[in-house]
Amino acid sequence: MKRFFAILTFVVLTLSWASAQRLPETARPENYKLTFTPDLENAKFEGDETITIQVLKPTTEITLNAVDIDFHDVSITSGSTQKAKVTPQKDKEMVVLTVEKPLPAGTAKVHITYTGILNSEMRGLYLGKDDQGRKYAASQFEATDARRAYPSFDEPDYKATFDITAVADKGQVAVSNYKIVSDTPGPGDKHTVKFATTAKMSSYLAALVVGNFEYVEGSVDGIPIRVYSTPGKKEMGKFALDAAEYIVGYYNKYFGIKYPYGKLDLIGLPDFSAGAMENVGCITFREVILLIDEKQGSVDLKKTIASVTSHEIAHMWFGDLVTMKWWDDVWLNEGFATWMSSKPVAKWKPEWNFDLDDVSNNGGTLNVDSLANTRPIHQDAETPAQIQELFDGIAYGKAAAVLRMLEAYLGEETFRAGVNAYIKQHEYGNATAADFWVAQAKTSKKPVDAIMPTWVQQPGAPIINVKAQCSGNSTNVSVSQQRYYFDRTKFEASNEQLWQIPLCLKGSSSGNAASKCELLSKREASFTLPGCSNWVLANAGAAGYYRVGYEPDAVRALAADAESKLSPAERISVQSDVWASVRVGREPVGDYLAFAQGLQADRNRAVQEDVLGRLDFIQRYLVSDTDRDSYRAWLRQYLTPAMKELGWEPKPGESDEQRTLRARLFNALGYDARDPEALAEARKIADKALADPSSVDHELATGAFSLAALNGDAAFYDKVMAALKNTKSPEEYYIYFFTLPQFGDTKLLQRTLDFSISPDVRSQDALQLVTGVLDNPAGEKLAWDFVRQHWPELEKAGGPFASAQIVNATSVFCDAGMRDQVTEFFSAHKVAAAERTYKQSIERINNCVDLKSQQEPQLESWLGQHGTAGGK
Ligand SMILES: [Zn+2]
Repeated sequence: MKRFFAILTFVVLTLSWASAQRLPETARPENYKLTFTPDLENAKFEGDETITIQVLKPTTEITLNAVDIDFHDVSITSGSTQKAKVTPQKDKEMVVLTVEKPLPAGTAKVHITYTGILNSEMRGLYLGKDDQGRKYAASQFEATDARRAYPSFDEPDYKATFDITAVADKGQVAVSNYKIVSDTPGPGDKHTVKFATTAKMSSYLAALVVGNFEYVEGSVDGIPIRVYSTPGKKEMGKFALDAAEYIVGYYNKYFGIKYPYGKLDLIGLPDFSAGAMENVGCITFREVILLIDEKQGSVDLKKTIASVTSHEIAHMWFGDLVTMKWWDDVWLNEGFATWMSSKPVAKWKPEWNFDLDDVSNNGGTLNVDSLANTRPIHQDAETPAQIQELFDGIAYGKAAAVLRMLEAYLGEETFRAGVNAYIKQHEYGNATAADFWVAQAKTSKKPVDAIMPTWVQQPGAPIINVKAQCSGNSTNVSVSQQRYYFDRTKFEASNEQLWQIPLCLKGSSSGNAASKCELLSKREASFTLPGCSNWVLANAGAAGYYRVGYEPDAVRALAADAESKLSPAERISVQSDVWASVRVGREPVGDYLAFAQGLQADRNRAVQEDVLGRLDFIQRYLVSDTDRDSYRAWLRQYLTPAMKELGWEPKPGESDEQRTLRARLFNALGYDARDPEALAEARKIADKALADPSSVDHELATGAFSLAALNGDAAFYDKVMAALKNTKSPEEYYIYFFTLPQFGDTKLLQRTLDFSISPDVRSQDALQLVTGVLDNPAGEKLAWDFVRQHWPELEKAGGPFASAQIVNATSVFCDAGMRDQVTEFFSAHKVAAAERTYKQSIERINNCVDLKSQQEPQLESWLGQHGTAGGK
C-alpha cells in the first residue's frame, strides 16, 4: 500500500476498536471459489463462496474472519455434507462454523452463501461514484478488510489460490487479479465474468472492480498492461502506461523472475482511501496519482505517478510473491518497495535525479526517528488498529534507508544476488526479517545478520560525532556514536544503544580518491586518512542512515568547500547534519544560515529544495515578530539572484529540474520572504489561469494560486471555487482545492472549513482541507476551534478511520498553551490507530517550544549582524 503523499503530507490510517486474536491453527485454505454479484443501486452484494481447506486435525469447528457479513446457507463437505451453525465472535472479527460430526484431517469444502454491504467507507468491497454520478464497486482489503468481502482466513500467511467470478450489470466491466477466461450473458440482463485461477496469494491481495471504466493498453515482455479510468479520461493514463512498461521490463531483468501474474492492470478510482494498493495484477490508485494531462501536467506530479507506480509494481515481487509472515514485518513489503522504486525511475528519467530525492527523504525520516516516541522497524502488532498504525514513516522511509545503506556497503550486485536468493527461496510463500538477512549474509559472506538487527530491532538512529586532527601528512579521525534525540536532555544522556554502522570517510585533501569505508561496531573508534584535512566527512556518498556531528570549525571549512568538494548528495546530507546540531543546541542557528548562504550559488534543485525547507521552518518557528522583516530581507537577498536567472515563466528547452527549481524559489520568495514582486506575479499568473485554464502549466499554477491566496479577497475565492467545479484533470482539481486552505483572510478560511464537511467534498479529501488550514499560520487557531466544535462531523466526513490525520496535523503547534489544549482534547476523544501519532505530536510541540526558546535570541543577534546587509 502507498499512503497518499501527493500534495499535502498526511497519514491515512485505519482504526478499529475490535481486538483481533489470531485464527486458531485448525485448518488452512487451499482455494477460494468466489462469485460476487454487486447490487450498486441497493449498496449490497451477494456472495457465493467455496473454500477448499486442509483440516489439520479432527475438529467440529472451523474459524474464519468475517465482518458485516449476513450468512445464509453454510455447509461443510468432507465425505458427507453437514450443515454448519454460525456463531459470530464480533470483537474478534471472526465466526465459528460448527458441525455435529467431527471433520477428519484432510481435504474439506466449506460452502457459504451470504450478503455483504457495499459500504461508503472505502474498505472491504465498497461503493464509489464518479464525477458523472455513475456508481461502481471496488475493493480495498489491506490490511484486515478482506473479511468484509468474503469470509476468509484473513491473515497474510494463509496463502491460497483464487477463482473469482463477477456478475456485472450490462455495459459495466469487471477487473480482478487475473485475466478473463470467459464473459457470458446472464443471469437476466447481467453478464458473468470469470477470471483465471490465480497463483497462491494472501487474502488481502485479492481484488475486484466493477463499473464503467475504459482503458489504454500496452505491453512489455509479452505481458499486457492496461491503465483504466472512468469514461472520458483514458488519454490521461498514457503517462502511467509508459512508466509501467519501462518499470515491469526493468524488474523482469533485476529479479531474474519474470512478472508472474499474466497481466497487469492499473486502475484510477475516484474514491480511494490510501494512495495506491498493490493487489496482485490489479493495482488500484487514487485518480490524481495515476492520471495526468501530459502536456500541462507538473513535473512534480509526473514524478509522483512514476514513483508510486514503481513502488506498487515492486510489490508484485516484494509483498505479493514473497509476503511477510505477519504484520510485525510489514517493512519487508513497504521498505523494500520504497527502496526499490527509485531504481527503475532513475534509469527511465535520469534527468529527475531521483537518487537525490532519496537522500532528502532520509532527512525527513531521521526527523521521525529523532523522537523518543519513534518505534523500531520491527514492531509487534495484534489488533487491526495496531496493524494499521504500522504503515508509517518507519516501515516505508527508515526501512528503505537502511536497505540503501546496506546495499552501498555490500555493493549493488552482491546485494541484488542476496535479494534474488531471498525471493527465489520464498516465492509464493511467506518470510520473516531473519530470512532476509540470512540470505544476504550467505551470498555476501559479510556479517549482515549482525548488522541488520541493530537497525531493525532498536528504535531511533545514531549520530556520529567526528573529530579530525591533521598531523604531518595524515589526518587522525576519531568517531563516536550515540542515539540522537531532538530532546536535548535525552540526547545528552543517551549512551544505551549501539549500532553496527557502515561508515564512509572522506577528507578535504582526499581529492577524488575513493572514500574509506569501515564498519563501526563499537562506541568509539579512530582511523587515519592520508593527507592533511581540515574536515572529514563521515557520511561520504550520503548512503548512510545516520547523522553526523561536526565541530564548528569543520562546519565553516565544509561551507567553504561545499560546492567544489562535495557531491550534491553530500551537500544535502551535510546541511541536514548542520541543522541537526542546531536542533540540539550544539550550534547557533546563525551557523546554519551561514552554511546556507555558502550554497546560494548552488543551482541544484534537490540541494536548494532541502535548504528552502529549513529556511521556511526558521521563518515559521524561530523568527520573532520584531525580527521578521530583517529575516525576510535576508531571504530576499538569498533567493533573488537565482530567481532572476530563471525568470518567472518557463522557457522553451529548459530542463524539468529548472522548472521545478523555479517553482520552489517562487514559492519561497512569495511565501517566506513576502517579496511584493513575486506576490504580484503570482496573482497575474493565477488570473491568467482562471481566464484560460489551458494557458498556464500546472507546475507554475500550483505555486501561483497558493501565493495569490495569501492576499486573496472574497471575489478571488469565489473564482477559485467556481473553477473547482469545472476541471479537466484531477491535477487541475487539486490545484484549486488546495488553494482553499491557503487564504490569509480568516473569514474565507472559515468558508473552507465549512466546505470540508459538506457533501460536495469527497470523503477521501475532506480532512485535508482541515489539516491544510491547521498548517496555515493565519488559520491554525480557527481550524483548531473548528476541530473541537465539529469533531463528530469530522470523524464522519473523513470516513471512520481518517481522524488520525488531524492528530498528526496538530504537531504544527509550537506553544505550550496549544499543547495543553491538544492534550486535553485527545485525552477526552481517543483516536485508535493514532496512539503513537498522538505521543509524537505532543513531543514535536515540546521540542519546538524548547528550540524556539533556545534559538530565537541567537537568531536575533545573527540577524543584527547580517540582516541589514541582506536588506540592500
Ligand atoms: Zn506499499
